[in-house]
This record gives sequence, C-alpha cells and structure tokens, in this order.
Amino acid sequence: MTELSTPLVAALGARAAELLAAQLSLHTVGDLLRHYPRRYVDRGRLTDIAGLEIGEHITVVAQVEKATLRDMRSRNGKLLAVVIRDEKGAELDCTFFNGHKLKSLVKPGVRAVFSGKVGVFNKKLQLTHPQFETLDEDDEIRPFISVYPATGKLGSQVIARSVRQVLDMVDDIADPLPASVREGESLAELSRALRRIHVPESQNDIFAARHRLVWDEAMGVQLALALRRRATAARPAAACPPRPGGLLEAFDARLPFALTDGQKAVGEEIAADIAGRHPMNRLVQGDVGAGKTVVALRAMLQAVDAGRQAAMLAPTEVLAAQHARSLRALLGPLAQAGELGGSDIATRVTLLTGSLGAKAKRQALLDAQSGEAGIVVGTHALIQDRVGFAELGLVVVDEQHRFGVEQRDALRSRDAQLVPHMLVMTATPIPRTVAMTVYGDLEVSALRELPAGRSPIATTVVPLAERPSWFASVWRRVREEVAAGHQAYVVCPRVGDPKLAEDAEDEPPEEESEARRPPLAVLDVLPKLAEGELAGLRLGLLHGKLPADEKDTAMRAFERGELDVLVATTVIEVGVDVPNATAMVILDAERFGLSQLHQLRGRVGRGSAAGVCLLVTEMPAATAARTRLDAIADTTDGFALAQLDLELRREGDVLGALQSGRRSGLRLLSLLKHEEIIAKARVYAMDIVEHDPTLAEHGGLAALVGQTVGDEERAAWLDRV
Ligand code: ADP
Ligand code: MG
Repeated sequence: MTELSTPLVAALGARAAELLAAQLSLHTVGDLLRHYPRRYVDRGRLTDIAGLEIGEHITVVAQVEKATLRDMRSRNGKLLAVVIRDEKGAELDCTFFNGHKLKSLVKPGVRAVFSGKVGVFNKKLQLTHPQFETLDEDDEIRPFISVYPATGKLGSQVIARSVRQVLDMVDDIADPLPASVREGESLAELSRALRRIHVPESQNDIFAARHRLVWDEAMGVQLALALRRRATAARPAAACPPRPGGLLEAFDARLPFALTDGQKAVGEEIAADIAGRHPMNRLVQGDVGAGKTVVALRAMLQAVDAGRQAAMLAPTEVLAAQHARSLRALLGPLAQAGELGGSDIATRVTLLTGSLGAKAKRQALLDAQSGEAGIVVGTHALIQDRVGFAELGLVVVDEQHRFGVEQRDALRSRDAQLVPHMLVMTATPIPRTVAMTVYGDLEVSALRELPAGRSPIATTVVPLAERPSWFASVWRRVREEVAAGHQAYVVCPRVGDPKLAEDAEDEPPEEESEARRPPLAVLDVLPKLAEGELAGLRLGLLHGKLPADEKDTAMRAFERGELDVLVATTVIEVGVDVPNATAMVILDAERFGLSQLHQLRGRVGRGSAAGVCLLVTEMPAATAARTRLDAIADTTDGFALAQLDLELRREGDVLGALQSGRRSGLRLLSLLKHEEIIAKARVYAMDIVEHDPTLAEHGGLAALVGQTVGDEERAAWLDRV
C-alpha cells in the first residue's frame, strides 16, 4: 500500500529516489506530492510563432530542428544557435549562452516549451536565452503543463513524471483537516487537491487546489503556535503581585509626567499578567518615542517589589548602557540601594556588558547571582549565556526585531522550576498577519499614541540626481541646527575600514547593481566633513566595529552635548535617546530598508524642538528606491510603513523566522495574500488545541504541524507540556 509516508525508494526505486533526495531533499511520497509546480503553461494560451511582435513575451511549444555550437565573438564560451518549429510549421531562431552545457538538452527532435522575450538579431526575430522545459509525450495531451522547481541535474519533466507515477499508486490519502473545517470553509479534499495541483484540467482546478493546500499550511502554522502558547502558558511562573508601599508606587509618585492612556492600559494588562502563576508572554509594540521604557520599568519594579529580579536585554552595548543610565535617572534615589541618599526601599540597576573590565564584570555577575541587583541590564548575548540569577522573575527584551524565537526560548529554558515572565518590546509596528504568525505565540498590545508635546519630524528627500546643489544646503541646515544649540546625526551605510571584511553594518535592502559605487562609509565621510562642510564643529564617530568603550565614550559625549554632530552607522537605529538632537542626515538613504529609515528618523525630534530628517540619495526619480524614500517622507505612520515594508520585502524572510533555518514547509502561504485564511485558521487552531492540547486525537493534524514547522521543533514544544 502506498501512502504519504511511504519512502520514495519503495514507490519509485532506488535511482529516482536517490536523485530526488540529493537534488531536492524529497524523501517520502508526501514530500514529493507537496513539491508543487512553480507555474503552469496553459496550452490554450500558447503563442504561434507566425505573427510574433518584437518585445512580446511569449510561450511557445515547438520542436528543435537544428542546433549548432558557435564561438562567441566578444567573450569566451560557446553559443548554441537553435532553430525551433511549432505545430503549424513556423520557425524561429533561439540562441543560448553556455552552449556546451545545453547541447545535450536542446538537440534536434526534442519538444519543449520555450518562453522569453522576442528580439531581433541580423534582421531576424529571435529569442535570446529563453527559458525552456522539455516535454514528455504525455504532456502533449494535457491542457496544462506543470513546471516544477527543478535543478540542473533534475529537470522539471522528470519530476513531473515521478509525481504522476506516484499519484497513480497512492490509494488512500487520509485528510488531516477535520470535516468541520473542511465543510465550514468549503475546501476540497486533500487527495483531490493534491491530484489537481499537479495535473489540473482547468484554471479553476489550480485555484481550488491551491486554496485548500494554503489552508493546510495556515493550519500547520497556527496549530504549532497554539501548541506553543499552551505549552508555555501551562508552565509555572513566579507570581509577582503588586505590593502596596513598594518601589512601583514610589516611582509613580516621582514620575515627572503623566502616563499616556496607552501606557496606563498596557501597564494594567502587564500588571495583571505578571501577578499570575503562569508566565506572561507579551509583545508591546509602540512606535519610536511612544514611551516603552517607562512601561517596562514599571513592570520590572512590580517584579522587584515581589522579591524577584528583572533583566532587561538590549541588542547592542550602546543601547544597554543607555538603558542602564536612563533607568537610573528615572529611578533616582530608588536605584541607590546602599548609597548615601538612597531610598530605604531602593534597589540597584546593574549593567552587564562584554566591555566591562574583568573586575567590574565579576562584581556585576555577583550582584545578579546574589540578588543584590534588582534590575540587570545587558546585551542579549551576555545575559543569555553567562548570568545566573538568584530569582529571575521578569525578562524584558527590547527591540524585538533583532531577536528571534529561539533566543526567546533560550532564556526561558534556563530555569526548570519557575519560568520568568517575558515582555518583548518592539518599535517596529507589526502588520496583522505578521503578528498572527511570526509573533503568534505572544499576546500583543500596542501603544498607539505618542506622549503629548512631541514635535513632528519633517522628512525631506534630497535628490542629488536632479538637484545637486541641495547637497550644500543639507550641511547649511546642519550648521543652523548646531548654531541654535541643537545636535545632529549623519548616518552612512558602511564603516569603510579596509581591514574589516564584513563591512556593511546591515545587509543592503535590495540586489546590488555592479555599476554602482560602493556605499558611503563613516570613515571616509567624517574627515571630509571635518575639513569641509562641517569644519569647526565638534564631530564624533560611532559604528558597530569600534571597541565597546570607544562606542560608549562617543555616545556619552554626544548625550552630554560635548559633540555637535555624530557620524554613525545604523548602530544608532535602535533606542538611542538624545532629546537635544534635532537633525538627521542619512546619506545613500536608498541603501536602507523602510522600517530602518523610520527607526533612524525616530532618533530626532524627541525633545520639544522640531526634528528634521534629510534623506540624501543619488537615485534618479521614478525608480523603486525613490518611491520608497518618498513613502517615508510622506507618512510618519509606522503601521502604514510596516505594511508597505512587508509588501516590498521578500516575505520568505519573514516566515522563515518561524522555522529556525530548516527547509521551509511553507510553499504557498503568503502573509500578504492570505490574511483572511490565517485569521480563520488561528481561530480553528486555538479551538482544537483547547480541546486536545497534545493533538492526541488528531494524528493527521499533528503530522501537519510536523510538516510545516519541522518535527524536532514540534517535539521540543510538546516536551514542555
Ligand atoms: P521608545 O518607546 O522609543 O523606547 P522611550 O521609552 O525611550 O521611547 O521614551 C521616549 C521619551 O519619552 C523618553 O525621554 C521618556 O522619558 C519620555 N516619555 C515616556 N513616557 C512619557 C509620557 N507619558 N509623557 C512624556 N514623556 C514621556
Ligand atoms: Mg526604546
């Protein structure tokens, strides 16, 4: 009996199975049947060779008549000149590069689908290096030709043949989706959907099959998340109820401003969560400047009041150091335990980063271990693998977009007895589908309003391609801000140290074109500005490759107003808070991602003076890059930008985060196209897991989860129940 779990060896024999395993990592009948066609050639829509137009994109089925290898004039290698003929007898020239490689494939007598753009060469129409899929005899009678993701050694039609062979053998495909879901959503049965996606008879077949199979993936993801949520929520945590007369009350009493409604509401949710005996798992999203630090600090104080410790993790040392400073400043005497002038109920805020001297580090570790430090602030890396806490009750992770699912788990699994509550904070607004998937195991709250009295940031694109003279105005503007007593940032995409191999502090957002000059570097820009446009101003340097103490020194000097301008890479992107900084110049702005630019500009206009952000670019008008920059300039709504960013980014990157580097089980599911399906699947999944927390009664669904997110991970989750 052949079923989805049958190894391909048993179904197809050793040779085919080995090839499918080696080339595409397909091992079972199920793997192969879930290897869906990439596209279809609709035979009803094929083009005739007779009557082609120059510039047209065409797909033709034709037979190779002649194939001749020729030397290429301008470069090495051979060119394969091919004449193809369609069913009506019309002929067309095609040329292929790397001819010697293709010669054995594109030879006379072979029938294939050719697609490409019609061009002209020597006054004759031709296709230059068209895509082609050779055809089987079987293909000739089908209305659609399925084109598979293939490799050089394993072509599409070989895969198609194996798929059809297997489809003829499987007798019984059990449908994992409960009938209630299938009927409720009018979904095709699995066995029908699998047949139809590989061998469709009509466009409608393709649509219906895909729709059903998208549901499988959405259910797999949502079940995995529901299991995960349940598993974590079921573990015991240290209850941290609020304590009358404690630090939190004392802190609220000395707070120099009123909390926003959002800060109050989210604060209450958190307070209730961490008072409970099961771990909180909450994501707080709030645009830059929304005041997340105070929200986090209040939660940490509640934990300390309950006799526990809190850890705050930042993605960079700069940010960790700054958090420690600003927490101490906010707390005042409440953070001065044991010090002169410290409050009786005071605690201590301890900074723990890699750059501390050996002695200071030992002391910090000791403070954490002994429980002396109520609040420990550090970088993710360090706290994660070095620190033993006396009584860790709450972990705050700042700027989540730099921090993955596994890292969150690493923190969780350190203490077998009691699990710390977890508060994750991100300034990147999260589109709904991303919240439901990538962060789908967390409760989500949002701070939607900014504290009153913020000045708006005016963002302007400086298009040097059309307006080269604006470059001088940029620096004039910076000088004006400095003359008015303010400070400025100048951001470049690159460090520019030839000794460093990995130079870019972040990946460039899009594919690079070779002709472009390398992105501007802080190490080149700083001396030029110092001698030229910004001569006489006090300039500082900050980038990720500096030794930590130099970073810290630069940051502090800037904070204290001892520097006028900080020339920096994106290390300042997250969290850095210098209210007196009012201008930000971003050079080669098109090199940054949308969310990144939004984060960067959030660094200015944090005080009472208005902020200005100048996006300097050499990209010409009407390019995609310029459109992106215009979008940033046009809106300050982080949620709108996040949605746009999702549309522009390859979303594989987003969903990939769910799968911790494993080969993706998600082939069809799209965060953009399938919002409604994801939302519905989430409701079904939570309901199912509610009644069957280990999926013991839903074997098919358990298998689906395994397929979607990987067995190991699923096992790891289930272990924790
Ligand atoms: P982010 O959400 O970007 O982390 P921060 O927590 O750094 O924002 O807050 C930005 C600034 O706003 C800080 O200087 C902070 O003290 C201040 N702030 C926070 N909440 C309020 C409030 N309710 N009213 C006025 N200022 C506030
Ligand atoms: Mg912050």
